[in-house]
Amino acid sequence: MADQYLMTADQKDLQAMVRDFAEKEIIPYNAEWDREAAIPAEAIQKGYDMGLHVMIVPEKYGGMGLDETTYCILREMLGWGDASYALTIGGNTLGFTPVEIAGTEEQKKMFADIIVPGALSSFCLTEAQGGSDAATSLTTATKVGDEYIINGSKTFVTNGGLSSAYVVFAMTDKEKGVKGLSAFIVERSRPGVSVGKKEDKMGIRASNTTDVIFQDVKIPASNLLGSEGQGFKIAMQTLDRARPSGSSAGVGLCQRAIDEAVKYAKERVVFGKPIAKHQAVAFMLADMEIQTEAARQLVMNSARLMDNGIFDTKLAAVAKCFVGDIAVQVTCNAVQVLGGYGYSKEYPVEKLMRDAKIYQIFEGTNQIQRMVISSNMLR
Ligand SMILES: Cc1cc2nc3c(=O)[nH]c(=O)nc-3n(C[C@H](O)[C@H](O)[C@H](O)COP(=O)(O)OP(=O)(O)OC[C@H]3O[C@@H](n4cnc5c(N)ncnc54)[C@H](O)[C@@H]3O)c2cc1C
Repeated sequence: MADQYLMTADQKDLQAMVRDFAEKEIIPYNAEWDREAAIPAEAIQKGYDMGLHVMIVPEKYGGMGLDETTYCILREMLGWGDASYALTIGGNTLGFTPVEIAGTEEQKKMFADIIVPGALSSFCLTEAQGGSDAATSLTTATKVGDEYIINGSKTFVTNGGLSSAYVVFAMTDKEKGVKGLSAFIVERSRPGVSVGKKEDKMGIRASNTTDVIFQDVKIPASNLLGSEGQGFKIAMQTLDRARPSGSSAGVGLCQRAIDEAVKYAKERVVFGKPIAKHQAVAFMLADMEIQTEAARQLVMNSARLMDNGIFDTKLAAVAKCFVGDIAVQVTCNAVQVLGGYGYSKEYPVEKLMRDAKIYQIFEGTNQIQRMVISSNMLR
């Protein structure tokens, strides 16, 4: 588990609390939630009761106000419990961060007043015609008097069907490409907001991923974040800041794969001894440990830098990319260690392997991360 040597007593207490929560309230339901492709409202409510949905919202707005390092330690623990649960209850990271970056004091308070009592919010950037290229956004926001009217459809929205508020990226000036993109707070209760198709996914099946449709949705001009044309910058800064905590859930998933594989390897006897005593299996476990520990350190490094006011886009992308790539390998190796049983739904590792793949795709694919990293190197 995360950085035992450097954790403060408070961090250790919080980590133990979330581990206990994961053991009792998440892990026993992993298979059921995966099968049902949903997390019951009561299970999400238990997370609200512990404040897990507002860990990064500052205390002055009613959140837990955790620093990024502590947040990452706890997100890792939640990811160890279940990647879908970590993503669902952590959804306000992508919802609140754009407001924190660009919002006025009133906007921050207004948004926090929606989510803090027990609600989720979503980040609505991706559209069907190409998620990696925000310049192709077809969603528009047209100013009429002191209102904006939003029209368009967003896809692959995490918590789309559960959220009470959305941060929506829409074109206020199409001619300007990404420089014409603006960011808006849109409450779910606004007439014209509806939830569309729910994705039937290979992994993180219990995480709610839907289309969200905006049809002639009127919002006050005061719901614009920052000024017109700043949307792309706000979106990218949000993703930069969300990368360490999002990736820490992936590290937790890898740790779970290791724990399951080690347990099995010590118990399963083949050719007269536990398979852990066969060096080929032991070395597979060692490789899983090396990759996961390296990933954890990259994530924690980015988190600590953030806590010191340093937002390093390249290092956040390096961490995100590495976690995504090794999560696929580590969980695949966990399946291998369990042999045929690894491939069976009787054991949890096949789900971990399906869940792991998402870390190479969302919040900017690993190809896009490599573009970010190389352009920083070649600048
Ligand atoms: C479960 C899930 C949850 C998600 N949650 C959210 C959310 O909450 N909010 C949100 O806004 N979005 C969300 N997304 C969307 C996600 O961020 C996009 O899927 C992702 O950015 C890629 O966009 P795309 O799927 O349209 O792929 P495309 O952009 O069509 O890319 C397809 C492939 O081409 C590659 N590619 C594209 N351009 C280049 C290039 N220039 N060079 C090299 N390779 C390239 C990509 O890496 C990818 O491999 C989610 C997606 C999933 C699956």
